Amino acid sequence: MAQLGHRLEGDLAAFASSAAESRGRRHPEEPPRNRTPFQRDRDRIIHSTAFRRLEYKTQVFVNHEGDHYRTRLTHSLEVAQIARSVARVLGANEDLVEAIALAHDLGHTPFGHAGQSALDWCMGELGGFEHNLQSLRVVEQLEQRYAEFDGLNLTFEAREGILKRCSPGKARELGDLGQRFREGTQAGVEAQIANTADEIAYNNHDIDDGLRSGLVTLDRIREEVPLFGQVFDEVRSLYPESGSGRRAVHETIRRLIDRQISDLVTTTRSRLEGLGCRSSDDVRAAGEPVVAFSQEMAEANRGLKELLHRELYRHFRVLRMAMKGSRVIQGLWEAFMENPGILPTEFRQRVERTEAERGEAGRAQVVADYIAGMTDRYAIREHERIFDPYSRP
Ligand code: MG
Repeated sequence: MAQLGHRLEGDLAAFASSAAESRGRRHPEEPPRNRTPFQRDRDRIIHSTAFRRLEYKTQVFVNHEGDHYRTRLTHSLEVAQIARSVARVLGANEDLVEAIALAHDLGHTPFGHAGQSALDWCMGELGGFEHNLQSLRVVEQLEQRYAEFDGLNLTFEAREGILKRCSPGKARELGDLGQRFREGTQAGVEAQIANTADEIAYNNHDIDDGLRSGLVTLDRIREEVPLFGQVFDEVRSLYPESGSGRRAVHETIRRLIDRQISDLVTTTRSRLEGLGCRSSDDVRAAGEPVVAFSQEMAEANRGLKELLHRELYRHFRVLRMAMKGSRVIQGLWEAFMENPGILPTEFRQRVERTEAERGEAGRAQVVADYIAGMTDRYAIREHERIFDPYSRP
């Protein structure tokens, strides 16, 4: 078995999480025959309903705005690709990193961050809404595909990675998963890699999508993000015929991602050494994350983010779409809370059960689960079905 484990997991570094040392699943299961437990986690995520829905959920641009913009699904695939590259070169567990990356946005509402803020506002006193915690709810409870348990029954390490952040109050409710937030310790190296890969992916693809949409201009990025300007000039001097078109932009972004990954790998290696991490427990016990960019790269990324906030996320067109999305969510929320009888049967029955146990907060939880699970287009249609008298209910 040890031999098979070695063949399946490759040469893991001492600080990596290995399947043999996994803290296991909530509901004990026989180990898989031809895969490691982390491969099983990944496969369950890919086969989940929530994963397929990511195709029609907003990253920045709403799905129907254009066929070439990132959706939550393509974003998750890009995160997984970057995370796997980093994991492999560092000797971390690639399967675990992939599982975490593919699952990290499963709990996202429709309409991106606007949707999440709207639902959080609606939930207010009744417990608030956080997409990170919702991703955990999806894999722990909401998916119903297995005869023996609710959720996907993932390993502790995968669930730990999905729970990127968490408030102190929630951390108390979350038992062993909440422990690191109560004690100020870290997640395993794989969770940290997936988390940073998320940042690399969205920073770079939001520049790409921002430029494609015309809401952000190339001149502006070149002026305000020196690293981008520098790489772009390098591309132009190497390939003068590439001009300022899409090809030059893609070549620049490709090089930017490569630089960020190289910086991350080098910095992380020296931190692992400096902190003396010789086991996955050492990584968890370290007072700070081991996976990190150099100071210069962290600074460059901050500049990039600020530009994206100013020019893209707060562009009036993006804000208008965000406002429409928020209103759809608020409308749905109010209607369902006021009259749970209009919820589809399955959810209405769930409301009856949870309300008996937890009162209004129970009702709110089921309504939030229903809304958070919606794709952009489903939410828009559901809103029509409820509010448009000419629409079939
Ligand atoms: Mg993400």
